[in-house]
Amino acid sequence: MKLKNLGIKTTNKILPWLLSVLALFITTTGVLAQNRLNIDEVKEGLHVITGPGGNIGVRLTSEGVILIDDKFPQDFEEIQSLVAQVSDLPVRYVINTHHHGDHSGSNAGFLQVAEVIAHKNARDNMIRGDQDGLPRMIYTNETSVFLGGVEVQAFYMGRGHTNGDSVVYFPDLKTVHGGDLLHGIAPFVDYGNGGSTRGWVGTMNNILSLDFDTAIPGHGSIMDRRDVVNFRNQMEAVRERMAGLIRNGLDADDAPERIKDSGLSWTQADDGLFMQRSIPGFFDEISAEIE
Ligand SMILES: [Zn+2]
Repeated sequence: MKLKNLGIKTTNKILPWLLSVLALFITTTGVLAQNRLNIDEVKEGLHVITGPGGNIGVRLTSEGVILIDDKFPQDFEEIQSLVAQVSDLPVRYVINTHHHGDHSGSNAGFLQVAEVIAHKNARDNMIRGDQDGLPRMIYTNETSVFLGGVEVQAFYMGRGHTNGDSVVYFPDLKTVHGGDLLHGIAPFVDYGNGGSTRGWVGTMNNILSLDFDTAIPGHGSIMDRRDVVNFRNQMEAVRERMAGLIRNGLDADDAPERIKDSGLSWTQADDGLFMQRSIPGFFDEISAEIE
C-alpha cells in the first residue's frame, strides 16, 4: 500500500537507480555470459548444442557420449552441464571437424576427461596457430569411434573450408555433421589454411554420396538433404559467376561489388564471412584456374 503512496516523481528517480544496480549486478556476476547455449534433440540419441561458436553434435550411447566439436574455451563447463541434462554418462570422445577456435576451443578441458580426434591437417593447423588442446589422435582418410553399440564415422572428403575438414557420419541415424563445410548463411573459405572452392565442390559431392536425410551445419539451423544440394549448387554457381566476371576483365578491387547477384544468397549476406573475408582469395583462386 505504501508503494501506491509513492508519487510518480519518486518512482521516476528509483527506476533508473534500480536499473543501474541491476546492470552492475549482471556485468559483475556474468549472469548474461552464462546460459548462452541451448541443447535440442535432432533425432533420438543425437542432440545439438547451439549458441555462439560452432554447433556441437552430442551423440548418446550406453557407454558414454561422443561430441562433435566443442565451441570456445569458456564454454567447457556449460557444455558439460548441458550434456548432463540429456545423459548420466560422461563425454568419452570429441571429434573436431576442423581447427578453428570456435569448434575446438574447449579441447584443453575435454582432454582431461576424454580423447580428442581430428584430421592430421587440422592438428597441423592447430600447431601452426599455436592453439591449446592438441588432439591426441589423428587420422588421414577415415576413422570410426565404436562406443556402446554405436558407430560414429569421420571422413576426410577433400579440401573445402580448410585442408583438414572432417565430415562426421552417424550411419544408424542417416545424419551428418558437416562442420563448416556446411553453413546456414554463407561459407568462409580459409585460404590461409588450405581452403579451396574447387575442392569444396568435390567434397560436397562426396558428402552427398552418403545416405543421409539430416545434416548439422557448423553454423545455422539443421538442414535436410535438399539444403545440402542447394549449398553445393550455390558453390558451383558463385564459381561460375566469378569465372565469367574475370573472363570479362574484372579487376580484383571491383570483385566484392561485382560478385553480388540477387540469385546468390551468399553474395547478399554483407555480414557473412563469404563477403567479408573470402573474396580476395576467391578472385585469386578462380583467376589461377582460368589462366
Ligand atoms: Zn571454421
